[in-house]
Amino acid sequence: MKGLRALYCLLVLTLPAGAQVKDAGEPKENTQYIDTLALSMGSIPEKLIKIHENIYIISPNGIAGNTGVFVGDNGVYLIDNQWSVLANRIKQLLQTITSKPIKAIINTHYHFDHTNGNIAFGAEKIPIVAHANTRLRMMAKQVIRGHVYEVQQPYPAQALPTITFTDKAEFHEGNETIELLYFKNAHTDGDAVVHFKRADIYHTGDIFVTYGLPVIDEDAGGNIFSMIEAVDTLLARADDNTRFIPGHGPLCSKKELLVYRNLLAFIRDQVMILYRKGKPLAQIIKETKDKLDPNLSGTSQEKFIAQVYRMAQSHIKSRAKRE
Ligand SMILES: [Zn+2]
Repeated sequence: MKGLRALYCLLVLTLPAGAQVKDAGEPKENTQYIDTLALSMGSIPEKLIKIHENIYIISPNGIAGNTGVFVGDNGVYLIDNQWSVLANRIKQLLQTITSKPIKAIINTHYHFDHTNGNIAFGAEKIPIVAHANTRLRMMAKQVIRGHVYEVQQPYPAQALPTITFTDKAEFHEGNETIELLYFKNAHTDGDAVVHFKRADIYHTGDIFVTYGLPVIDEDAGGNIFSMIEAVDTLLARADDNTRFIPGHGPLCSKKELLVYRNLLAFIRDQVMILYRKGKPLAQIIKETKDKLDPNLSGTSQEKFIAQVYRMAQSHIKSRAKRE
């Protein structure tokens, strides 16, 4: 999930009275936020970018995740599918490169800005693949605390994943193998990272984003400790030729992923050190923030540090219990 602040502000201004959401406090029933966002997405242009002989990115210009496109011998695989209002636009873009049908859709996690397109594509009976936890989350109402509280309503039956995996899965398509890796409790509790093994290109979902501090969906089992472990695993598997399609942002190499990893690890370590010294949260926020680039965007720095503080608390407590 991503909130582009400028666009968010614009949307809040256009929301009906009473539908505005605050950046703190209790979750609000603001389904109009997502509905309004969906409508606004319909008018935003997108780009189809070729990154390999048969792999592309459909890069959104608004609040939506990157769609990865693989053109296989027998059909097209889409990794995430943005918004249902964009389904026809996505199809038009695909027609510029192939006449093959969409064979499968893979959801990297449950968030609406990556999977709302399931509503349109699922209605066409295109198989949808996801981690089992992602399907469970889509079946029930979810409160997503990103930059704002957002309520994601249960998905209609036709939009639910039809094939789930729990640990690992592989698709064999011509000379390419598409591997689905599960990273437990990173951005959510159902993160699938997609690896095109021959091309050595990953679609990371929102485990990796380039807009600054990521969203970690704490209520859905997301955790900074496991998120860093997931990124470390990806770094260990990669070499200088490996490419990463982030959940949001342009195509990256190992170098950019390492910078992102080091930022997350710096904040984690800083919070842990201050927490162990017994400093109060307000002080931890201040001292950590003082060491960060004030222009670092994405999730607000205060909110992110407070979140890491809560995770550090439970991490230390659970470790103490085990010892
Ligand atoms: Zn997300």
